[in-house]
Amino acid sequence: MLRSSGGMVEMGKYVLRCLECGLRVADAYTNKCPRGHDGLLRSEYSCELSVRKLGGIWKFWDWLPSTEKPFVNSDAMPATYKSEGLARELRLRNLYVSFNGFWPERGAFVETCTFKEYEAIATFQRAYETTSRILVVASAGNTARGFAQVSASCGMPVVCVVPEKALRRLWATKEPSHVVLVAVKGDYPDAIRVAASICDACPHLFVSEGGFRNVARRDALGVVLLDAVFRMHVFPTHYFQAVGSGTGAIGVFEQATRLLNESKNMRGMPRLHLAQNLPFAPMFRAWKARRSKIIPEDTADAEIRIRQMYADVLSNKNPPYALKGGVYEILRATHGEMYGITNEEAKSAQKLFESVEGIDIDPAAAVAVAALIQAVERGVIRKEDTVLLNISGGGYKRLNESHLTCLLSKMDATIRALEIEEIVKELQECIKAAHPTGNGGR
Ligand SMILES: *Cc1c(COP(=O)(O)O)cnc(C)c1O
Ligand SMILES: [Zn+2]
Repeated sequence: MLRSSGGMVEMGKYVLRCLECGLRVADAYTNKCPRGHDGLLRSEYSCELSVRKLGGIWKFWDWLPSTEKPFVNSDAMPATYKSEGLARELRLRNLYVSFNGFWPERGAFVETCTFKEYEAIATFQRAYETTSRILVVASAGNTARGFAQVSASCGMPVVCVVPEKALRRLWATKEPSHVVLVAVKGDYPDAIRVAASICDACPHLFVSEGGFRNVARRDALGVVLLDAVFRMHVFPTHYFQAVGSGTGAIGVFEQATRLLNESKNMRGMPRLHLAQNLPFAPMFRAWKARRSKIIPEDTADAEIRIRQMYADVLSNKNPPYALKGGVYEILRATHGEMYGITNEEAKSAQKLFESVEGIDIDPAAAVAVAALIQAVERGVIRKEDTVLLNISGGGYKRLNESHLTCLLSKMDATIRALEIEEIVKELQECIKAAHPTGNGGR
């Protein structure tokens, strides 16, 4: 199934295919079907997967949307290991953890402590190869942190739009001098709106990073599954992850599909167990009501509920649930399940994980642990089943023991959200100052 080989593929390495009409297009940082379909574009790779002698996620370069030698270098990479502590606690014989954060003792070197850093690495590389425009990223905090860190190491500029209250999450271990930060009064959905208006106002200079439509993000998050299969030598029967948008879960499904197609055995597809944090859990609600669409009721009182969330990085009002290739479809295809986790359940799962595995984890990752606990209690998982638990973030305490971090909010480029035209004018000034040539870092 898997080969090791030398030279890079030069031409026609991948195309993007519309899941709705099947149209294949070359990648010009294309995030939507040119015919206007709402379904996702998926990358189709012409080569088989071989393990490359490249750092970090580029080990799986064959199935990442890049045709050049990676210029965005990073050691960030999942660390898959077989659990002992939590496995004993839950009486599971084959529980594997994909740890995505900072834990050098396990070989995990994600310095921004979440898997969002993989998305940033693959996205900057994709942008470098396919567009001269500057990326604009809307974020609840963790995504902006990932993009800021990678921008600091590769030198490509990025505009990060975040809710004001997320500023405390914006730190990096390197001085991020190519980041322009826009702090928005309001919450994550407001940041998404402002980011979109910036791109609309100045489309020749800025390009929306694309969120769940960005194939680089999905394929990079799917590396979690690729790394796990290489480590475990089998496919997991069950896969657990906390979801806000579901981008990561879709990415895992897509990479699993590629691997299974290669071995012509689709029966091995893992069951997806996806978890949301109950104060605000639109996909969980829709799924439990057996609906293929999210309705306004599912997102009622969003502002209040999002404020109550323990894992508010999971707040997303418009996740890719109903569209072609989206979360509803992948849950159906894998006989998947959704879990609604209360703040208390998440907190106690977090405490348990830290005490038995010996590392601190992100509140969102704790939501996934709580879902696994529920599934075991309900008898959904058998003792000998192979389980992959995605710890999507962690190691903050561990990082603080050995690294100095700097807060992005201390940068003088911080801008208050005023009129869009004003923001764009200021952004242009900032970017001119940081990048006299005014392009995407080439
Ligand atoms: C963003 C995030 C998630 C959820 O990922 P989605 O792709 O939005 O579903 C889970 N865990 C952590 C730590 C995150 O930062
Ligand atoms: Zn189409």
